Amino acid sequence: MRVLILNAGSSSLKFKLYNMNDRECLCTGLIEKIAKDESPVSVSIKEQTHKKALHIKDHTEALNVLFDLLFEWGLIVTIDELRAVGHRVVHGGELYSEATLIDEEVLENLRRLIPLAPLHNPANIAGIEAVRLRSKELIQVAVFDTAFHQSMPAAAYRYAVPNELYEHERVRRYGFHGTSHGYILKELAMLLNKTPEQSSAISLHLGNGASACAIKNGKSIDTSMGMTPLEGLVMGSRSGDLDPGIVFFLHRRKGYTIDQIDTLLNTRSGLLGLCGENDMRTLLKKAKEDENCRLALDVFVYRIKKYIGAYLAVLGKTDALVFTAGIGEHASAVREMVCSGLEGLGIVIDKGENLSKKDGAFSIHAKDSAIKIFVIPTDEELEIALQTKDVLLDL
Ligand code: ADP
Repeated sequence: MRVLILNAGSSSLKFKLYNMNDRECLCTGLIEKIAKDESPVSVSIKEQTHKKALHIKDHTEALNVLFDLLFEWGLIVTIDELRAVGHRVVHGGELYSEATLIDEEVLENLRRLIPLAPLHNPANIAGIEAVRLRSKELIQVAVFDTAFHQSMPAAAYRYAVPNELYEHERVRRYGFHGTSHGYILKELAMLLNKTPEQSSAISLHLGNGASACAIKNGKSIDTSMGMTPLEGLVMGSRSGDLDPGIVFFLHRRKGYTIDQIDTLLNTRSGLLGLCGENDMRTLLKKAKEDENCRLALDVFVYRIKKYIGAYLAVLGKTDALVFTAGIGEHASAVREMVCSGLEGLGIVIDKGENLSKKDGAFSIHAKDSAIKIFVIPTDEELEIALQTKDVLLDL
C-alpha cells in the first residue's frame, strides 16, 4: 500500500512516499521557491539524492513535477497505485480532533479556518486542490497539527480575555506539533511496555520551533504553544512567552506597526534575537567564549525548566520526560542543562548515557530517577502516513 505524504508551505512542497506494508520510506523530496525564477527540486531515493532547478509557477505545477518524478524513477507506474495522499494541515481549529477524510465540506471548513493560520492553511489547501486537479478519485486525508491538543481542558486552553473574543472569534489556545507529540506518545508507550492510554509524559519537541506537552493517560492536557505557534518556549527565531505589554510599548515608543512587530517576534527573536545565531550546533560551539550565546542558551534552558515544573504540577505524576526533534535528539549538552537541578523533582539524568549516541530511541535516566528520561526521534511524516492509513481502514 503506497501513501504519499505532502507538507505544502507557502512557497515549498515537501513530500515522502511510503510503502505502508512495512512502513518503508521509498523517497523523500523537497521543491522550494515555488513561484520564484528558479525552484530547486531535490529528491532522495535510498541513499541517492537527485537535484535539479525548474521554473515552477504554483503548487499545481509543483505537484505535477512531483508526479513526473515518481513515474520517472519507477516509484509508481500509474496514479492508481497510490492508495491515498496524507496532508499535513496546520490548523484544524476546534473542528478536528483527529485525522479526517477530505471532502468538499472539509475543504470549506479549512477555508473558514484561514484567519487562524493565515500563512499556513492557504498553502495546505493549495496542496489539496493541486491533488484534486490531478485526480478526483485519489483519496485525501488531512492530519492536523492541532488535533492532538483538542483534549485540553478549558482551564488550559482559555485565555483570560473577554468571553466574546472566544465566542465570536475563537480566541483560545490550540497548540501545535500535535503530530509529533502524538507519535512520541506511541513510541514511549512501547518503551514503557504500556498502552498509550496508560502512559503519561512531558514531551519536549525542541527543533527550530519548540513546544512542550503535558500528556496524561494518553491525552494532551496542556501544551506550550497557544493560539499561534509564537507562545511558549524560546525558539530559533520566535520569542515564545512574553509580556503582551511589550507589543503596546513597541508601537507607542518606536512607532512599529503590527506587521513589523509580527515579523520581529516571529523571525528576529528567540535564540537569533538574543545572540544572532539560531543554529544550536553553532551556538553551543560559540557559547564557550561568546557571552550572548551563553545567555541565549541559559534563557532557552530556563524556560524549558519552568515548563517542566509547571507540567509536573498539572500532571501530578508522570512516567517520563522525553526529548525529541533536532535539539532534543542531538544536543546532549542542552539535555544535561535542562535536567540539572531537577533531581528533587525526581528527574535524574545519567550523564554517561546522555552522551552516548544511539540510533533510535534510548533512555538517559539514572537508576534512581523516579521519572524516566528518554530521547525519542520524532517522525512526523511517518505519523501522518500512519494516521492516513487509519482513516483508510475506517472507510
Ligand atoms: P525544524 O524541523 O523545526 O526546522 P529540527 O527539528 O530539524 O527543526 O531542529 C533544528 C535544530 O536542531 C537546529 O537548532 C539545529 O542546530 C539543531 N541540531 C541539529 N543537529 C544537532 C546536533 N548534532 N547538535 C546540536 N543541535 C543540533
